[in-house]
Amino acid sequence: MPINRSLAATSGAPLRSTVPHSKAPMTRIREHDLDHALATRAVHAGQVDDPLAGAVMTPIYQTSTYRQTAIGEHKGYEYARTQNPTREALERNIASLEGATYGFAFGSGLAATDTVLKLLKSGDHVVCGDNVYGGTHRLMERVYSAFGLKISFVDMRNTANIDRAITPTTRLVYCETPTNPMMFLADLSAIGDLTQARGLLFVVDNTFATPVFQRPLTHGANIVLHSTTKYLNGHSDMVGGILVTSRDDLAERIGFLQNAAGGVPGPMDCWLALRGTKTLPLRMRQHDANGRQLAAWLTEQRQVTKVYYPGLASHPQHDLAKRQMSGFGGMVSFDVGEVGLAHRIAKSTKIFALAESLGGVESLIGHPASMTHASVPPAMRQAMGLTDSLIRLSCGIEEAADLMADLDAAFHTRA
Ligand SMILES: *Cc1c(COP(=O)(O)O)cnc(C)c1O
Repeated sequence: MPINRSLAATSGAPLRSTVPHSKAPMTRIREHDLDHALATRAVHAGQVDDPLAGAVMTPIYQTSTYRQTAIGEHKGYEYARTQNPTREALERNIASLEGATYGFAFGSGLAATDTVLKLLKSGDHVVCGDNVYGGTHRLMERVYSAFGLKISFVDMRNTANIDRAITPTTRLVYCETPTNPMMFLADLSAIGDLTQARGLLFVVDNTFATPVFQRPLTHGANIVLHSTTKYLNGHSDMVGGILVTSRDDLAERIGFLQNAAGGVPGPMDCWLALRGTKTLPLRMRQHDANGRQLAAWLTEQRQVTKVYYPGLASHPQHDLAKRQMSGFGGMVSFDVGEVGLAHRIAKSTKIFALAESLGGVESLIGHPASMTHASVPPAMRQAMGLTDSLIRLSCGIEEAADLMADLDAAFHTRA
């Protein structure tokens, strides 16, 4: 089937807006955005045909407003918080990759999470994974609890823990799998069945696995969330987030909130993310290959006491990983049993940069206890195995042999 990328709204006569003022527009994929395999959709889905010059790449519509031909008569674009063609291209592209109908981009991953929580009201109860991204934990505990949201943090490695936490006011189950930095998995199909039976919303943060390796909507999730800052952009040059869903009622509400609260990304950042997703399947193959090689190599090093990687046969949830993921990615955590050594390694690598964040083409090394997870209470960290001697790697797309040599040299630096 030929790829027809022209936007109805950018060709032909001006359209009268079909969107009443009280309702925000919802970016819906076009039928052909689901044509072809994932790698082809990554390049083509959602792209805008440039009506002016025929630019092959979606233009950056760096504008805050759009000319109207008469009052209320326009091409479907009124004001850039509400609609922007570059943002819509990104929203359609990622929705297509996740197999969703609607996409809504935000100025950060946390702005996307914030919007999910705004679907709820005071008194509602959320069951959330206890090893979720630190910022997610902070947003729930320190912002939304003041607005009357009740949150239970549970270990989602065991679905029964979720079942036990559900109360008559529970509305939403918020899950991250694999988790950061412990690489714990949650059984998406089991949670999908549970939430459907109990009539609860099921939201999955798919930032680590990406749609290349895991598609939560196929397991019963209602909303998938990403920090596009990470693998989707993949080049560490922007911050952003996205929500995708196939449910009309949720899309309508999220679209309303996106416009009403206004946490939208700028067109330049949307364009950077859109450039990133074109190579997502290609990059993920290399992240995965490097992750597997480094995880295996780490298990053989005498300084290493434990390796956390779902692709290892020794990972306690390896069978589940194989069932619900088609690859394991580039995130690898390992313990060296001694705080001093962990600090020496983290500051001695040359290729691995000591930095927060993950998912870029360049390899990063981090010390979760003092960096990404410093805000998690020490007792809670210890309980999940997040020790002060734990190191987290975001394996980039460099040559694996160079990455191993870099770590090997760091392992042998003297105190
Ligand atoms: C980074 C991250 C977030 C938050 O995204 P920001 O873009 O930093 O706001 C949420 N979830 C996961 C898993 C992350 O890694």
